Amino acid sequence: MAKPTGRIVIIGAGIAGASTAYFLARQGIRNVTLLDRESVPGLHSTGRNAAILRTAIPDAALHSLARESMAFFQSPPDGFCEHDLIEGHGLYLAATAEYATKLDWAENDAHVLGGDFVEPAELYARVPDLAHDVARVLSLADEGAFDVQAILDGFLRGARQGGVDVRLGVDAQELVVHDGAIAGVKTNDGLIDAEQVMLATGGWGGELSAAAGYPLELTPVRRHLLVTSADASIDAKMPTVWFAGSEFYFRPESGGLMLSSCDESVVPPNEGEVTVPEVLEDIAAKTGRWLPKMENLDAAHFWAGMRTFSKDHRFVIGPDSRLSGLHWAAGLGGHGITTGPAVGRLAAEWLVTGASSREFADAFTPERLLEAAAV
Ligand SMILES: Cc1cc2nc3c(=O)[nH]c(=O)nc-3n(C[C@H](O)[C@H](O)[C@H](O)COP(=O)(O)OP(=O)(O)OC[C@H]3O[C@@H](n4cnc5c(N)ncnc54)[C@H](O)[C@@H]3O)c2cc1C
Repeated sequence: MAKPTGRIVIIGAGIAGASTAYFLARQGIRNVTLLDRESVPGLHSTGRNAAILRTAIPDAALHSLARESMAFFQSPPDGFCEHDLIEGHGLYLAATAEYATKLDWAENDAHVLGGDFVEPAELYARVPDLAHDVARVLSLADEGAFDVQAILDGFLRGARQGGVDVRLGVDAQELVVHDGAIAGVKTNDGLIDAEQVMLATGGWGGELSAAAGYPLELTPVRRHLLVTSADASIDAKMPTVWFAGSEFYFRPESGGLMLSSCDESVVPPNEGEVTVPEVLEDIAAKTGRWLPKMENLDAAHFWAGMRTFSKDHRFVIGPDSRLSGLHWAAGLGGHGITTGPAVGRLAAEWLVTGASSREFADAFTPERLLEAAAV
């Protein structure tokens, strides 16, 4: 199929938009504009997450994107980044006896996942202050954390070098539709003609398409993170630990600990980054439960961000059959950085060829959500 010649406008310069722009550029696609209403890229979910690299995702389709992305992080193309993208010191998925079955899904696939079930003693040796009632532990030694800023910078640099026009401070206000097809985007900086428009709008997922008459349900869910002040007792090489069932995770950060009590509140996007002080109490309670010696560390940073979900919690990547030229790379939930490279590659494939032969491509298209809504 011939390469598209008309302009492709990508709205949103978070990981989804930046990664797609990068892979379009690498395929030599010209006439690509990446725009974001903020003057700095990655200011929202992409700059407000826990930076945990965790490919062990129970959903096979999402897991395939994560594994493909892991290969990219381990061995990025020349010039992508000067240093290692993966910074973690291992990831442990842990559960008490009460929640041990929460890890059943990984039982037969631990090796495929790139991990192993290990004795809790291995985890205690790495995190001696952890409460000693862990019953089941899956260890993923190559995972843990990554440098999100370097990943985003690598995508944006590569996109610019490949000719993508990155326009910041440009607010997309309306999709322009002619004869059942996308014709452009109205912005605060004028009209941009386009043959294809991709929505990579994170927590603002469905707003523009709904206003144009093509609603798609994408729900922003707020979650808080806290980083404690630095403390000499915290081992900077501590692994990332995530409790299944109890829903609590921590990892070392800036000499302190990053903590989340995995709170979840459905909110409109304009409230998605507003902090709720009561969550501090949940975090303190879970920290006291799991890391009693750390309970009284001061909070140095406390913030909230949006994880945005489609109805079935799978991402939305690909063309929207209702409107020719409309594409999506949205609803990346809590795994958008871990899967970022594969999301961009798949979204670019749809934009360039109008098709994808990947095993799970259909699992991500808007079509399955539209069909489910129709039923
Ligand atoms: C607390 C928290 C912890 C997380 N932890 C992890 C983790 O450990 N690992 C992991 O892989 N993922 C994690 N995630 C998920 C990850 O951050 C997201 O999946 C990912 O960042 C989503 O990227 P995005 O590009 O879709 O959205 P965003 O980064 O939000 O980008 C969307 C962009 O669109 C722009 N935009 C929206 N509307 C318009 C418009 N009309 N005109 C112009 N620009 C517009 C916005 O300004 C924004 O920059 C976490 C998320 C949160 C909130």
